[in-house]
Amino acid sequence: MSLLDKFQQVAEQRAQLGDADPSKVVIEKIISPTEAQIAGRHTILAGTNNYLGLTFDPECIAAGQLALAESGTGTTGSRMANGNYAGHLALEQELADYYGYPHAMVFSTGYSANLGTMLALLGPDDAVLLDADAHASLYDGAAMSPASVYRFKHNDPDSLDKRLSRLKDKASQSLVVIEGIYSVIGDRAPLKEFIEVKDKHGALLLVDEAHSLGVLGATGRGLVEETDTLDQVDFVVGTFSKSLASTGGFCVSRHEELSLFRFASRPYVFTASPCPSVIATTRQALKHLRAHPELITKLWHNAERLYGSLKASNLAISPELSPVVAVMVDDRVRAAEAWYQLLQDGVYCNLMLPPAAPGGGSLLRFSMSAAHTDDQIDQIVAAVGRLDL
Ligand code: PMP
Repeated sequence: MSLLDKFQQVAEQRAQLGDADPSKVVIEKIISPTEAQIAGRHTILAGTNNYLGLTFDPECIAAGQLALAESGTGTTGSRMANGNYAGHLALEQELADYYGYPHAMVFSTGYSANLGTMLALLGPDDAVLLDADAHASLYDGAAMSPASVYRFKHNDPDSLDKRLSRLKDKASQSLVVIEGIYSVIGDRAPLKEFIEVKDKHGALLLVDEAHSLGVLGATGRGLVEETDTLDQVDFVVGTFSKSLASTGGFCVSRHEELSLFRFASRPYVFTASPCPSVIATTRQALKHLRAHPELITKLWHNAERLYGSLKASNLAISPELSPVVAVMVDDRVRAAEAWYQLLQDGVYCNLMLPPAAPGGGSLLRFSMSAAHTDDQIDQIVAAVGRLDL
């Protein structure tokens, strides 16, 4: 047996998909936040996480261009070794100010924000409890930490309560990890109930708002804003790669100790800091989000249009209204074929096959943007209607 033998199975699974393989998709030309040219065809993008449609915002582009010209293409190192750029600190200050918290910490990706926060927090005597549907980066953060790892049932505060009760004294040395809006199905966590449970046991709570920043709450701060729990949640993590249309991630907290995480977080210390242009576009996107809450209203209008139409067509879809809408498909190969048919029909969505989709099934994932037009949404719905699901 060689280490490479296991790839035989991967090759067989890929071969089964034939051309219905998302890894073969080439975006030849990106036309707008909602349109691209793929295989020579004009295609509606219905599987981005471009919730506010800011990837082509002229002010964000101009901010990035100016930073490129003034500060160069890259930082070439970590902030701990090579120093902070003023933009890194300014973005952290702006994020802290947005949330009304004392501190914010910026990471190079959303993935490393999750690893970095969890690895700073968790020691060998601690426990981490993850929602079963938590994102891979949260599972990876738990697995890389020396803490004991437990899972509780998705969106089930009673299941969390039972797990914490079994930990007895150790419950107060525990981190509970959930998401605001879940990335694949688009359902949201019962945050207030989770807060009650974690408080009862003296545990701390981390909420990943990757898919709810810019989506929930009157000013877009996510589920913590929508549920008015900013002063009860312990850590909010998020990414710049969705609503803020760039790359990078962050952690904000009401706890003063966050300012010390920099010295204890390997995914922060041992990787290059974000490029000046990325920081500049992110700062501009955050400013834009704060100045234009009407984008959130437009996003929800679009979400209602897509969700309402797909629900009316009796498909097996996500349980609640959200800009992320999943259409469940029983069979893996059938899901891949449906995904490919949509692509040929000029609609790009995300194909999720086991084990990526919760519950071990397969699904087509659609995500709405404030930049979609009603006509584009109707075209997406019509294309889904032509599938034999
Ligand atoms: N958390 C969640 C819930 C996500 O969905 C993602 C990305 N899909 C991440 C974290 C990682 O973010 P990034 O892609 O910006 O590294």
